[in-house]
Amino acid sequence: MAVFLTGDTHGELDMGKVLDFARCAQGVLTREDYLIILGDFGLVWSDPPSPKETERLDWLESCPWTTLFVDGNHENFDMLDALPTERWAGGVIQRVRPHVIHLMRGQTYAFGGHSFFVVGGAHSVDKEWRTPHRSWWPQEVPNDEERERITAAAAQVGAVDYVLTHCPPTGCYDRYRKRFQGFWGPSDEYTDWLEEHIEGAFAYKRWFYGHLHFDLPLDEPHTLLFGQVFDLDSTGLTDYAINMGACPDGTPHNYELGYDPPEPGQRHGRSFYLCSHCGKRLDR
Ligand SMILES: [Zn+2]
Ligand SMILES: [Zn+2]
Repeated sequence: MAVFLTGDTHGELDMGKVLDFARCAQGVLTREDYLIILGDFGLVWSDPPSPKETERLDWLESCPWTTLFVDGNHENFDMLDALPTERWAGGVIQRVRPHVIHLMRGQTYAFGGHSFFVVGGAHSVDKEWRTPHRSWWPQEVPNDEERERITAAAAQVGAVDYVLTHCPPTGCYDRYRKRFQGFWGPSDEYTDWLEEHIEGAFAYKRWFYGHLHFDLPLDEPHTLLFGQVFDLDSTGLTDYAINMGACPDGTPHNYELGYDPPEPGQRHGRSFYLCSHCGKRLDR
């Protein structure tokens, strides 16, 4: 029984880490083990589902573990909202496949020997260029009624092991922005809402989130995940501890952000981390 967490998959676009994970999980993990995707799952997207989406969801279902996802901002909320709900692990869920499960906003769950409080959603920074109900959905952040319900649920929690969101609260977001100046835009009303209504509403050990497309363990107790798979129970199955933890001599990695400009003919360059102490390079 083990829990793993990773960041945005964006449908097929950033699914590579899950494919890598599947390679080492075969024959090791069971349905009682869980892989949590922290929003922008992106496989409930086309209506009707594209053959590629159907194939990938069927593939996830065929994996030996149980996949859980928090909703982000890049999801088709009209399709998600239409899915039936049921109770599972102490909270309300929706199933996309029998073992591909949507963890819903304001729910508390107990599975894998841990408890979790979940709040999905985030603002899309690119919504001006997107079409409502086709590539952008107003439900990407909770409406007032939902926020009231989530706040009331959070007030009942008392203590939980882990918080799972897609969007960071403002306090932690601003600390990251300070460290990587100029890289991220300003915080918004939803990060403020999370800061005001979820942060401090109950005790927790660690808060995991996605959305910013980086892996950053810098700001305990908040952990941002994207390309790495966090090994919550220290099974040793993933390289998270090696990549994000310490240099060979035991000193914590001191990652600086680097950027390779685009190769001729390519549109995008590549950002990476470089540890100034041991020289380890980690591509995003
Ligand atoms: Zn996002
Ligand atoms: Zn994303």
